Amino acid sequence: MSHTPLVQLEAAAKAQLEQILAKGPLKPKDRTAIPQQEMPSQDALDRRGNMHQVALGYTPEQARVEAMRCLQCKNAPCIAGCPVNIDIPRFIARIAEGDYRGGIDVIKETSVLPAVCGRVCPQETQCQAVCTVGKVLKDVDLSVSIGRLERFVADWEREQGASELPEILASTGKKVAVIGSGPASITVAADVRRAGHEVTVFEAFHKPGGVLLYGIPEFRLPKQIVQQEIDTLRAMGVEIRTNFVVGRTRKIHDLMQKDGYDAVFIGTGAGLPRFMNMEGENLVGVFSANEYLTRSNLMRAYDLDRADTPIYSSRKVAVLGGGNVAMDAARTALRLGAEEVHLVYRRSRTEMPARVEEVQHAEEEGVMFHFLTNPVQILGDEDARVASMECLRYELGEPDASGRRRPIPIEGSNFKMDVDTVIVAIGNNSNPLIGQTTPGLELNKRGNIVVDESGKTSLEGVYAGGDIVLGAATVILAMGEGRKAAAAMNEYLSR
Ligand code: FAD
Ligand code: SF4
Ligand code: SF4
Repeated sequence: MSHTPLVQLEAAAKAQLEQILAKGPLKPKDRTAIPQQEMPSQDALDRRGNMHQVALGYTPEQARVEAMRCLQCKNAPCIAGCPVNIDIPRFIARIAEGDYRGGIDVIKETSVLPAVCGRVCPQETQCQAVCTVGKVLKDVDLSVSIGRLERFVADWEREQGASELPEILASTGKKVAVIGSGPASITVAADVRRAGHEVTVFEAFHKPGGVLLYGIPEFRLPKQIVQQEIDTLRAMGVEIRTNFVVGRTRKIHDLMQKDGYDAVFIGTGAGLPRFMNMEGENLVGVFSANEYLTRSNLMRAYDLDRADTPIYSSRKVAVLGGGNVAMDAARTALRLGAEEVHLVYRRSRTEMPARVEEVQHAEEEGVMFHFLTNPVQILGDEDARVASMECLRYELGEPDASGRRRPIPIEGSNFKMDVDTVIVAIGNNSNPLIGQTTPGLELNKRGNIVVDESGKTSLEGVYAGGDIVLGAATVILAMGEGRKAAAAMNEYLSR
């Protein structure tokens, strides 16, 4: 990925825009000939030393030129590629005209978190994967940059201070409890409040926002954006109670039978880290990615001079895993001062579930990738601190149930890696507390809450959505689930 300075990108886009406008109406071949606009970003070496945003966002000229690449397809396959079916050609057409207000209004018909999704959605496997421009140019990476355009108009609106509060219907006198404050819950709280119900969000942590706040780092998703969504909820009259662990402080049955809540939404996510269950995992210097990222993001441990949260000082770090969580942990470790960060993944690059852009950014910043490698044990020193990790090399066999080629260990290929910190990022399970403390709530064998197509659980008036239902998934899917459940809850409460 090249990194052209912002001033150059801006000047080039201005010139391109003038040329395009002078040309008059564009034919499809003119549109596909427009070069894709590069995302301005911080220099890789500079950004290793700070927590600021890596991708800086399109300039207005870049956004208009990129929008002009869209063919406005009649069948618009991109819409079906988006889990919440945003009317993509319509919002892009508004941007192409320079009508940014119109663009964001179209997106907001279906999405409540465009500034978030525009940044973190796995666009390349969703809306952009099926874009006609990518097909015509025979390269999915050259599809119209839908996510970047979505981010552009969402940021434009925020910068204008032009965000309007949605209309809230007259009070119904009904009370709704929303448990958790991640994207699923934020969506439910907003949609249910709009229908005139009283809404209280109960969050276990001291700050609301879920993974958007404690998991995804500042350099990918500035916390100010999440805070603004929370401020909007508050301005809409949603009460947010933090440090409130449902299942401990109060159980679901207490909320409904004693505290007068008419309906409950459970959006408690998948925050229970999985471990490898290998020898040495209890040594000092082994972390779950969740703990590591939470210390840095939520407790601001990276802000050493101003935060009291301790963070382990590392020189050589191994991160185990190949998803977004692993990339975030590896890139955070670099920013916290590690000299070397090694990402250890038992399959090959092709099978990595992390977003392509995140993998590229991690590589540019100096994360070293070890594919087809897996640890066997972690070895400690006399103080029970991590000293090294024994690994085994793998080769790829036949595809397994997931469709990905199965990694097979190569006998006798053991080798040692000198590290002082190991961060385990191999996935998360559902938070189990609510399941354990709510009699009659049906769970599947993985501990996820079972819901019907409307998001209703086995209990009357109790709905659920997001990662607690889907298992660890994505922001946009959590939001889509929230939307669906909120519609069913509003219908239930109107009876
Ligand atoms: P969450 O966001 O998990 O929120 C659940 C909330 O419930 C938390 O705040 C938790 O504290 C609270 N809670 C839990 N139990 C209780 C209780 N008993 N009482 C009260 N509150 C409780 N997705 C993407 O689309 N793109 C990405 O790039 C991406 N990167 C990721 C990076 C990391 C590090 C992680 C961890 C996840 C990432 N994801 C990404 C996944 C995405 O963030 C999740 O799918 C999404 O946040 C799920 O939303 P949710 O609302 O279901 O739950
Ligand atoms: Fe694409 Fe995600 Fe935006 Fe939908 S929400 S249009 S999938 S970037
Ligand atoms: Fe535009 Fe691509 Fe959607 Fe066609 S598929 S309407 S080119 S974004």
